Amino acid sequence: MQLTVLGSNGTYGTPGRPASGYLVEHEGTHLWMDAGSGTFAALQDRIDPGEVDGIVLSHAHSDHCLDIFGFYYATRYGRNPRSAVPAFVPEGLEERLAAFLGGGDRDFSDVIDFRVMGPGSTARMGSLALRFGISDHPVPTLCVRIEGGNRSLTYSADTGIGGGLAELAVGTDLLLCEATYQGPGTEKPWPHHLTAEEAGSLARAAGAHRLMLTHIWPTLDPSRSVAEAEDTFGRPVSPAVPGITVKV
Ligand SMILES: [Zn+2]
Ligand SMILES: [Zn+2]
Repeated sequence: MQLTVLGSNGTYGTPGRPASGYLVEHEGTHLWMDAGSGTFAALQDRIDPGEVDGIVLSHAHSDHCLDIFGFYYATRYGRNPRSAVPAFVPEGLEERLAAFLGGGDRDFSDVIDFRVMGPGSTARMGSLALRFGISDHPVPTLCVRIEGGNRSLTYSADTGIGGGLAELAVGTDLLLCEATYQGPGTEKPWPHHLTAEEAGSLARAAGAHRLMLTHIWPTLDPSRSVAEAEDTFGRPVSPAVPGITVKV
């Protein structure tokens, strides 16, 4: 299994750095995980949109789902229309996205088969097995563990220190974890994101083998986030840099 970072900015994109989005590949299966602004263009640097076998949209914040519209229009009106592309979503997300469609497009059903996932939900997509939890975030938000070929990748989406991530991440090979803030957790501006220290602590407690930080606030220095997470994780930590591909 391999993970390509399409974008990793927390909350909004900056030049050359899209918001959250990832491509997970294993034995010819292509999963697009989060569709933050700028990630559909980045995806097309790696694969043809027609090769997307399935999509995970973690939640209804714009930095995780907006580019589904580009995929929808490219797929519905492009040269190779497709139907029933599975998209695993939390409750209510399909309806919120559909409210932005207009004109001849009432909903996404010509292209996308939305499947609502909740805590403990499982799904198969090609060679990948997916298991979902609900993160600690103010809108319904999916965290997900993806397994393929005896390897596992766990993605936090956006979360505070509670929720289902810690259980999903037990013993995972790679934890892709949000670290929006720096400094002490007691001083973070909002409880529904993690500091880098908290991400490191969570990864250590879960027994994750490797930790990659993502969703760092765009004006922060990622090297400081990495150093803070290494203090609590106790092992080297990497940042999710747009364009990199790593083996899981
Ligand atoms: Zn976010
Ligand atoms: Zn969010």
